[in-house]
Amino acid sequence: MVFIRKVAKTVFLSFLISFNYAFSSVVAADDPMDSISLLNNAMELESYLSSPARNSLLEILDHSESGILWHEYEVSPDENLTTVFINEGLMQADLNLLMNIPQSAGWISQPGEIDILRYQLSNDNRVIKLEITTVSGEVLSFSKVTQAGGDTFTVTVDDKKKPLETVRIGGVIKHSFYASAKVAGLSPSAMSEFANIFQWQLDFSRDIHRGDRFEILLEKVSGDQLADDTRILAAQIYQQRRTLTAIRYNDGRYYTLEGKLLGRTFLRLPLKEEYPVSSGFDLSRQHPIIGQIREHKGTDWAVPVGSPVITTADGIVVESVVGHPTAGNYIEIQHGRRYITRYLHLSQLKVKAGQQVRRGEVIGLSGNSGLSTGPHLHYEVYVDGRPVDAMRAKLRTNRALGGSELSGFMQVSSRYLNMLRNEEALVDATVNVPSEAS
Ligand SMILES: [Zn+2]
Repeated sequence: MVFIRKVAKTVFLSFLISFNYAFSSVVAADDPMDSISLLNNAMELESYLSSPARNSLLEILDHSESGILWHEYEVSPDENLTTVFINEGLMQADLNLLMNIPQSAGWISQPGEIDILRYQLSNDNRVIKLEITTVSGEVLSFSKVTQAGGDTFTVTVDDKKKPLETVRIGGVIKHSFYASAKVAGLSPSAMSEFANIFQWQLDFSRDIHRGDRFEILLEKVSGDQLADDTRILAAQIYQQRRTLTAIRYNDGRYYTLEGKLLGRTFLRLPLKEEYPVSSGFDLSRQHPIIGQIREHKGTDWAVPVGSPVITTADGIVVESVVGHPTAGNYIEIQHGRRYITRYLHLSQLKVKAGQQVRRGEVIGLSGNSGLSTGPHLHYEVYVDGRPVDAMRAKLRTNRALGGSELSGFMQVSSRYLNMLRNEEALVDATVNVPSEAS
């Protein structure tokens, strides 16, 4: 305690010193991005995160040599490629490259053409592969080719439906999920997908124990190896106290047995009451104090000092910092592997780094700390290290299937469960699963 108080005092002193410094050296007032090195690419994200979330992320990434994570985005009928790029915070430069391809020109502006979009990113957040499933079921695969004259994308179209087969893979975890899954024959990309599906329920570095069992139902092209183009239809993890289940429905998303959308859901506002936005997300804003163009990577609400600030999704507190020269007292929370939220200029912090928080939980009180023009809350959302407009981004909100959708889902899920639990129910190929040598 004494130590903490001492540290706090030192931080406060250096805060006063750097406050003056900050003013004289023209640091963006309410935007700490200039002074806190933050998340411009995946590499930075890796070195930046210090929580258990980071460990599990690294464990999976380290082991998935060829299995770069596929990000999947379900496109709504009013969206086109441009809006998807904005929502996912993808680079305009890559969109421009895609625009150069005649085959993709239509979808860039035309809404309602794309059903599902999947993409892989390089370490510096550039799109390296893109897979578009059109509403008519055609699959277009774009791959980036790097050459002397500049990067381009090549495209292959696959409209022939290849025969698929279902495969069941399972095992008991001996040392780590990775080792046991590898023995069971799971490909690196399927491992990433599996970790992705359960990322909101499980911290793979902490919550997986010796003796836990996993069963996975995969769909792959008939006759092909268990390679990267497999898709997880259903998955279960049996733990001592609980069983987690994920079932893929025909919207490409995973649900619990009860038909509830798996994973993180976000609240739109980090406040209990609605307040007018005093300064919106704007990457070309003229700064109120310094008068220069400074990005505003968050949303501001002018709220009275002491207003409860809530976390918008389940997660782990990565930072709970007192007296940062520009950000003031602030909190940063990691939500699963892809999302980070930040809450700035607080008067009181109610959570500590490493602590787990639930959506809607009060994490602090709003204030006017740091370099701030008046009492307000500044809130930021990052997707894969890129700032997004929290008021406009398509963040998942609560969703549960109902009515005829639910009964359709129930049929699918009981069929999958049957296959997961009973090998003979697999009429197609079944991979013989060796048990891991001890
Ligand atoms: Zn702000």
